Amino acid sequence: MRLIDADKLIDEINDEEFDTHEDYNKIFDMVDDAPTVDAELVEHGEWLICSDGYYPYCSKCKNEPQGRVMTDYCPNCGAKMDGGDENAEKESN
Ligand SMILES: [Zn+2]
Repeated sequence: MRLIDADKLIDEINDEEFDTHEDYNKIFDMVDDAPTVDAELVEHGEWLICSDGYYPYCSKCKNEPQGRVMTDYCPNCGAKMDGGDENAEKESN
């Protein structure tokens, strides 16, 4: 996977004129040529509670946190514990 700056690319695409089918192929070239950005994907998870009602575990890696401390980030897999992937979209807006 390559991460690119979508806002910058959209600006570039808006600056072009696309009339023919061949012109639209330029879009793929522009996407291909877009420089990648240095960023890390953030996994989103949440602390779930085992059916016994006592032990929290990570929704991503299923591991229990040490001392059952429900930290902001999973100490095992590094997921941000903010409610799972559904919240990932909201956060980026
Ligand atoms: Zn985890």
